[in-house]
Amino acid sequence: MPLRVAPQPGESLTSWLCAYAQRNDVTWREMLTATGLHCRAGDMEYIGWACRLHSHEIDALSDATGIDSGVLRAMTLDHFAARGLRIVRRPTRTRRGALNRITCLKRFCPQCLRENEARWQLAWSLEWTFACTRHQCLLVDTCPRCLRAPMRPAPLIDKVPDLTRCTQSADRHGHTICGADLTACTPELASPELITAQQVINDVVAGDTAAFTVYDPVTRTPAHVVADLRSLADDIAQTRFRSTDITRIAPVADSFAAATHVLQAPDIATAATRLRNHITASAVIGVARRAGLAYDTSTRHALAGAIELAALDTELPVADALRYRTCTAVPRTPRRPAAALATLTRGLPTLLWPAWATYILDEGPEIDTAQRAALACLAAHVGTDTRTPTISTMLGNTVADFTELLAAMRALRRRQDRADVLNRVIVLADQLSAIPTAIDYHRRRRLDYTHLLATIENRRRDRDPLRCVAFEYLSGLPRAYAPWFRDTERFAHMCSAIVAEQALSEPAVTEGMGDFLRYHGIEEPIIAMPALPQRITS
Ligand SMILES: [Zn+2]
Ligand SMILES: [Zn+2]
Repeated sequence: MPLRVAPQPGESLTSWLCAYAQRNDVTWREMLTATGLHCRAGDMEYIGWACRLHSHEIDALSDATGIDSGVLRAMTLDHFAARGLRIVRRPTRTRRGALNRITCLKRFCPQCLRENEARWQLAWSLEWTFACTRHQCLLVDTCPRCLRAPMRPAPLIDKVPDLTRCTQSADRHGHTICGADLTACTPELASPELITAQQVINDVVAGDTAAFTVYDPVTRTPAHVVADLRSLADDIAQTRFRSTDITRIAPVADSFAAATHVLQAPDIATAATRLRNHITASAVIGVARRAGLAYDTSTRHALAGAIELAALDTELPVADALRYRTCTAVPRTPRRPAAALATLTRGLPTLLWPAWATYILDEGPEIDTAQRAALACLAAHVGTDTRTPTISTMLGNTVADFTELLAAMRALRRRQDRADVLNRVIVLADQLSAIPTAIDYHRRRRLDYTHLLATIENRRRDRDPLRCVAFEYLSGLPRAYAPWFRDTERFAHMCSAIVAEQALSEPAVTEGMGDFLRYHGIEEPIIAMPALPQRITS
């Protein structure tokens, strides 16, 4: 090549090679052959080298053009690998597949093209570049005449490249090209918010993370921030736009600007509020689908996932809010393994201890059976992704209890103090998993209670209510499961009376219950539960 052409700062390798060929008036085929990038006629359209150059390609290119190898490397997408851009040159023989979609020239600023001899910036190929901060406009992603992407995946082989013209075919057989003048496009002006967002993104890609204070400054890296921005923007786009529009420039700009605004919040709660404000009015998908996106993101990007989960908090069923701890300052993906869940449910009675139920609901001592069962079941949901029916069965509930249990769980969602209640459930779950309880409720649920208090002195007219209450106390199961239970109003009344007069703490009854446990070879206290937290009185 007789005439040498220097690359411009930030220029893409494809653009520079095209400019080089144009200056020397040679075709793309001749250019590729001269630079050693392609030797065979058949592979001229595989431009995997725009992703990453092999070292022998760099050497050949450097020899042919006199450009330093470091400069050449910086003109490929590999330059952004440190920011988490996944660079693959496989499969090498992809013709117009995924590889060419990320390497091809697809967005541009018409004014930059006019001012810079039609040279295309490498940054325009990045998914997060949507605006030109110099000219305060959105990048253009369609040809003004044929309304398709402005460039084919690779330059035309037997033409002298011209980067100011649309290269899409103008007829069905591809013999002619559209040829519209891309520099004559009128770009859409970008709002100051969009330009600011683009500048913040450019800064973080360049290594400046100062704008993102939600991270711990010690561990914060540009790659972290870029990864969180991309996953937030992707989920925002999927939430707000139809899938056919998602890659168009306006939705891309909108999603990345929203993601940048969200991630610049000082904490997760503020970020979640911002995210909610961005999407509530405009979501085109339902809560279940949004939750799926958030769950998926939380497994790969902890912070972005936490923000998305927190933004969903009040819209989720209480069981899911507990699984992902969305009501806390740091929502996160479940990580309680099945074995740990088994240990936890061993320590939990089917009906939550009345004292804990009272504490969690912040109500009087009269908390009904369904609510206590629901609270125990919910405590076991914290931080696990095991399904509700499995958890409920592990806790000794029968299928018949299930409808009532679910209704009681759903009722919690409508409470004014929902977040406080859920946070107290989490306190219980965390205590249970930190300190093992002294009672194996799993064993107690399966005991034969036939002989419980069988010989207790019959000082009341009817012994059965006392035995039912003792059964519930020892086994943690509803007293309706006791062999002596009668489903009448009078019986229920008698049971309540026994609870009210604390008959279970009478020495004879305590002794009888102790004897029963020893008879079954159980060396446990009659009852044990995690210590209640001190209530902060305001
Ligand atoms: Zn520009
Ligand atoms: Zn066109």
